[in-house]
Parts: sequence; C-alpha cells; structure tokens
Amino acid sequence: MQGRHELIARYGGPAPRYTSYPTANLFGPIEPGDTREALRTAGPDFRVYVHTPFCQKLCWYCGCNTVIRRDLDVGESHVDHLLAELDLLRPDLPAGARIRRLDMGGGTPNFLRPDALERLVHGIEAVLEPSDDREYASEIDPRTVKNAHLQTFLDLGFRRFSLGVQTLEPVVQEAVNRQMPRDRPGEIVRFLRRGGATSINFDLMVGLPLQTTETLDRTLGTVLDIAPDRLAVFQYAHIPSMRPAQKLLERVGLPDMAARDALMQHAVERLTQAGYTRIGFDHFAQKSDPLAVAQREGRLGRDFQGFTTDDHMDLIALGPSAIGRLGDLYTQNQRDPGLWAEHVAAGRLPVLRGWHLSADDKRHAALIHALMCRHRVRWADVGFTAAELSDRLERLAPFLEDGLVALSEEGLDVLPAGRDFVRQIAAIFDFYLTNPNAHASVA
Ligand code: SF4
Repeated sequence: MQGRHELIARYGGPAPRYTSYPTANLFGPIEPGDTREALRTAGPDFRVYVHTPFCQKLCWYCGCNTVIRRDLDVGESHVDHLLAELDLLRPDLPAGARIRRLDMGGGTPNFLRPDALERLVHGIEAVLEPSDDREYASEIDPRTVKNAHLQTFLDLGFRRFSLGVQTLEPVVQEAVNRQMPRDRPGEIVRFLRRGGATSINFDLMVGLPLQTTETLDRTLGTVLDIAPDRLAVFQYAHIPSMRPAQKLLERVGLPDMAARDALMQHAVERLTQAGYTRIGFDHFAQKSDPLAVAQREGRLGRDFQGFTTDDHMDLIALGPSAIGRLGDLYTQNQRDPGLWAEHVAAGRLPVLRGWHLSADDKRHAALIHALMCRHRVRWADVGFTAAELSDRLERLAPFLEDGLVALSEEGLDVLPAGRDFVRQIAAIFDFYLTNPNAHASVA
C-alpha cells in the first residue's frame, strides 16, 4: 500500500474527463445529412445548449474556446447567427418538438446584452415549444454581469445559475488576471434567490499561482457563508502548448502536483465537513440537492455539462464548437466562430465533425459511465464478460495492489482510496485510448 504522495506520482497524470465516450478529440468527419437524419428520429423533448464564445477579458488560466472582444455589438450578430442555425434545423425537427432544458455556456453568456438574451430565448421558443416543466440554466461571469442581466434571466424563466468564482483572493486574482470584489458573488446570489432562483452553483479552481491552503480556506469560508446548492472544484490544467496565455502564470510559479493535491484534499475536507456530498470526483452538492439524491439512488448521469440528473434527452447544440447528441450521433460545430458564422450565413449546417456510436461503443460508454458515476460496475449489466476484458483487467494489477479497486468475477468496485483516480481507472477500459490505431479505422 502506497502513501498519498506515491499514489499521486504513480496515477495522478492526465486522463480524460469522460463527458462523452468516445472523447470528442476522436470525432471524425460526418455529413450535415447525418445530423438531419438523426434529428428526424430524435425528441420530441430536447435539451438545447447555446454557446457564446465571447469574453471581455482573458483569464490567463483559460482553457476554453473563447474569443476576447470588448465590442458588445458582436453579441447582436451572434444572436442572429444562433437563431439562423436553429432555423436551418427546423425542417427536420420532429412534430411537436419541445424544449425541456436550456443551458447557456461559454465563454460568457452574459456577454450578450439583456435585450439580446431576450431575443435569443424568445427566438428559440418560437421554434421549440417550451414544456411546462422546462428548466433554463446559465453560466454567469460575476465580473461582468449586471443586475439588468440577472433580472432578464429571471424574467425569461431561468432558475439555475452557475457562477465562475474560481478564487476570491485578490493576490491570486491578480496573478490570473481575473479580479472581482470579494462580496460580488454574494450580492449576485442574493439578487437571484430573491427573484426565485432554485439552484446556484459555484465553480472554484485549485492549483492556481500563489494559492495556498490558507488562501483557499479564506475563499471557501466566504463561499460557505453564501451556501451555494452545488460546487465544482476544478484542478487547473496547465497546457501552455495549446493555450499560450497560460505561460504568463509560470512567471509567478505554479504549485507542484503534491501541492495541488493538498489543495484539492483541503477543499474536499472543508466542503464535506460543511455538509456537502461529494459527487463523482470534483462536484459537491447539498444533501437534499437532486444531484446528491440521484447519486444516492444510483441515477447520476454525466454529459458535457458534467454530472447531471438528466443525460437521457436528445441535445441540440447551437454556436461555435458546441457538441450535441441526437440518438446515437454526436455532432460538433465548427470551432472557429468566424467559420461557424460563415457556414450559417451561407445556409449550411456548421457541422465540423462527429461520431456514430456503434453497439460496442455503447457498452464501453456504459462501463465507463458506471465507473465515473457509481464507482462500480457489474460486467453483465453493461454487456461484457470478464473473459472479454481479460487484457484490461490485467492492467488493473497495480490499482489492486495499492488498494484502490476491488475486482471480482462479476465486476469492479472503486474503493474510497481510489476515488481520486477514477478517471485513470476508467481510461483502462477506453478502447480507443488503449488501441490508438483502432479509431482511424472506424472514424
Ligand atoms: S471567463 Fe471563462 S471562458 Fe472567459 S476568459 Fe475567463 S476562463 Fe476563459
């Protein structure tokens, strides 16, 4: 049995987050006709994801597909293009198509002016009938959101909000170029709750420059006073080869792997002591929150929004880089906002790539999903036999030796000590990761 530091050194390397299986980097060419065909047999209830890639100021840790613009007018044409994209899909929507869930993400959804938000949501509802039990959710940038935005969201029926808080420490904020007053998230939450918001999530980040257990603890103290319903605590991912701005963080210095782990452990301890249930590996929810209930009842799902209670609905994705799922088809839009807009303006579906899920993909997805969401899998439940998985089970030997998993003829359990490494354990069952040449022949 290894100590924590040895385990981190041994297993703490990068592994997919499995918000989809196969992971989106494997998606290959598909035809716009594939999307149209999948749409015709999907629904009639839909989730819609809308991506607004614009932000006013770059956070130096940013790993998202974002475009920095100060000119808010660009939001007006963005809404034009989003509605035009939905219009291109309209002829293939099934009869009685309804919207049951809307998620706005980015970038920054509140980059759009309040009247543009209104035009967008009303435009979507003119095509997809809003269901009585609809749930609308949006990410919020606390630095730039105005009360007029918040009121507009509330008036449009949004009740779930996710605030990108990350850190409230001025010295850390300065180091990552993301400044906001310590009391702003609390003000926003009070405004939203007074207006009827039912679910507030905070995103926090660990592993940032100058972050210490003490500074993290101060942020957590303020956050716990506000008592969001949910929290996500993400580990900063340093990939300056893909995100050159991240190099700026190296000037100040980044915590090493052991220090990052200590920060994460501290967050887990503080939040669970405060009564939050740990969901999966990096989410937390109050005990009565639907996410915590779903986890207790074995119904937790996972999709591009992270852990969720409803990953079963067909997903229409609008906006650059957005990923949708219609039946067994994943579709991803053009990543470049200019190219995406060009396609839409020319009347072409802005599809960049996608993936047709095979029967074998679906049983691998079910296996990985069970590990990520329930920390246990029974082979028969996901269509495998132990014999079929023998080569992969052999690769679990070090995890078994280190007391991170328990293996039986029937299945696999991730033990509490292995929970932090569930992504690395799941990756052993990723057919395309373990057979890198295989995807070229099927993509
Ligand atoms: S607000 Fe989010 S998407 Fe925008 S720059 Fe900051 S981290 Fe990136």
